[in-house]
Amino acid sequence: GRTIAVFTSGGDSQGMNSAVRSVVRMGIYLGCKVYFINEGYQGMVDGGDNIRLADWNSVSDIIQKGGTIIGSARCADFRTPEGRLKACFNLLERDITNLVCIGGDGSLTGANQFRKDWPDLIKDLVQQGKITQEKADANPNIQIVGMVGSIDNDFCGTDMTIGTDSALQRIIEAIDAVVSTAQSHQRSFVVEVMGRHCGYLALVTALASEADFCFIPEWPPPSNWRDILCAKLQQQRKEGQRLNIIIVAEGAIDRDGNPITAELVKDVVNKTLKYDTRVTVLGHVQRGGAPSAFDRLLGCRMGAEAVLALMEMTPESEPCVISIDGNQMVRVPLMQCVARTQKVQAAMNEKNWELAVQLRGRS
Ligand code: ATP
Repeated sequence: GRTIAVFTSGGDSQGMNSAVRSVVRMGIYLGCKVYFINEGYQGMVDGGDNIRLADWNSVSDIIQKGGTIIGSARCADFRTPEGRLKACFNLLERDITNLVCIGGDGSLTGANQFRKDWPDLIKDLVQQGKITQEKADANPNIQIVGMVGSIDNDFCGTDMTIGTDSALQRIIEAIDAVVSTAQSHQRSFVVEVMGRHCGYLALVTALASEADFCFIPEWPPPSNWRDILCAKLQQQRKEGQRLNIIIVAEGAIDRDGNPITAELVKDVVNKTLKYDTRVTVLGHVQRGGAPSAFDRLLGCRMGAEAVLALMEMTPESEPCVISIDGNQMVRVPLMQCVARTQKVQAAMNEKNWELAVQLRGRS
């Protein structure tokens, strides 16, 4: 069997543990040796106890836990060739040439860079006398499979990322709680949700919570949004509604690129309509807590598929990402997804909203 290592990198998300568990158990089931790498790329660079052998039981009792039990980190060292050289040595020392990376687009870009550098890295290690030429020849490259763990659902090439569904559940629960108090006091609530440059969480929660208004970065409102917003809220009140819910994505902007913050929206509603208006910023509550059934299952299925994909890969194989397409697990070329995800950002920077929305959708 092969020797596999699994790690989580970038921001944590619910369901990562399920994916780790699935990789370990599927790997062991297929006769592989599976290692954990703690603290993402930092653990790979630092080596030592950060890279440890997993067994069947070391992933018991984690499927229901949020976050990631093997730790995640951002690692500046891995961005440098020197850092990647150390990581390469630490992996080869344990004969690890199969990697499962669970992270966001940054982590997957790093994995791709690592694979590109690998032939040069092993050459350097031979020159420095750290590994034998024989070992270098036996491991001409590394096989990499990625899975996207992120609450933001900001990655092109998969319908859902691991953690999004749990974050949605958390946000919906919070909005339901806010609604009951807003109802009693005839208040307006402005709720800021996470998502960075992606409006998915905001848009879906707005639909699911019967919100009156929603601001997302991919579809910024025109500069007279204040008038449009107030007219809409007034209309809702006229029709008998006792409260208003407005969802603001953390990256929301107007068509001129000015940020639209929850605080700004509150001031507009407060000053123009004199409604009692409050802001709720949900923050890290959204990525905490137990993963939903969907995310547990998604992690399980993606993890198993990741190991199956590795089994079929050779040193010549390009890295792939395990995606969910409809209800199917599929393998997509990693760099194609990363490139498309970066194109969305570029389109948004150029204020080409139509293109950004189109790229965010299915291919
Ligand atoms: P999130 O979506 O939660 O931010 P992410 O994976 O995009 O997750 P990043 O901070 O962008 O998070 O990347 C995580 C780590 O991946 C970085 O700290 C760095 O170690 C590594 N990494 C990212 N980009 C590169 C790159 N171009 N080359 C090498 N390593 C990289």
